[in-house]
Amino acid sequence: MEFKDKVAIVTGAARGIGRAIALDLAREGAKIAFNYQKSDSDAKSLLEEIEKLGSTALSFKGDVRNFDLAKEFVEQVKSFFGQLDFLVNNAGITRDKALMNMEKEDWQEVIDTNLTGYFNMSRSVIVTFLKQKSGGIVNISSISGISGIARQVNYSASKAGIIGMTKALAREVAPYNIRVNCVAPGFIETDMTNALREDVKKKSVDSIPAGRFGRPEEVAKVVSFLLSERSNYITGQVIKVDGGLHTTY
Ligand code: NAD
Repeated sequence: MEFKDKVAIVTGAARGIGRAIALDLAREGAKIAFNYQKSDSDAKSLLEEIEKLGSTALSFKGDVRNFDLAKEFVEQVKSFFGQLDFLVNNAGITRDKALMNMEKEDWQEVIDTNLTGYFNMSRSVIVTFLKQKSGGIVNISSISGISGIARQVNYSASKAGIIGMTKALAREVAPYNIRVNCVAPGFIETDMTNALREDVKKKSVDSIPAGRFGRPEEVAKVVSFLLSERSNYITGQVIKVDGGLHTTY
């Protein structure tokens, strides 16, 4: 039980990659606090699944775009569990369009969720981590933030921003025994990629050396590694989980 007596926050965990991360951490003994935006039934089933694993979970319905709600969520986690050890920033959205058709709202919503949301949560936990001189943060970025993907100007910008944020914060808090890393998934089988057109999906699979989309659990394993003591000397890094899609620096 690698994470026995640890408490982890995972944002946007009701489904997809976030859910797999919450379950992987819980399986190793972590107590989980997660927030979600809409689906009460998905949140309830995740709570039950975590309890079945013998762990404890707390759910919070709240939008990561709202700074006050992010702060309130973190305060609730600390008073419920009495401690906080890890933050996984995962909640994210896409609003894919060619730039010529992209409305200001498409840009703003993606930046507010994917970038400002990560700031809101990181800012809300960091004083606790600094005071206790320990803590781990993993930010979920994307290959889109490294190589750029057409029709994702908003999303690529947000995901590249997350990489900059990860590196800057990692340097800032390393002296306090806090590590901050990034995971950049390629194409992973979730509702987000289910929404892609069939021809786009096929073209994407054809471009992946491993010949398939990844599974949420395959991302979760890397997040758990980055929060564990097995990666004690790794900080400020971006680990790609993409079946070989992007192999340059
Ligand atoms: P998903 O759409 O299945 O899940 C995203 C989750 O985030 C949902 O539970 C949603 O309710 C939550 N969320 C969205 N906006 C929120 C907000 N404002 N406040 C709180 N919660 C909010 O997507 P996914 O594929 O599981 O993606 C998870 C993360 O992984 C995202 O950051 C995404 O950008 C990233 N990612 C996904 C892929 C992929 O191929 N699926 C690839 C690279 C990166």
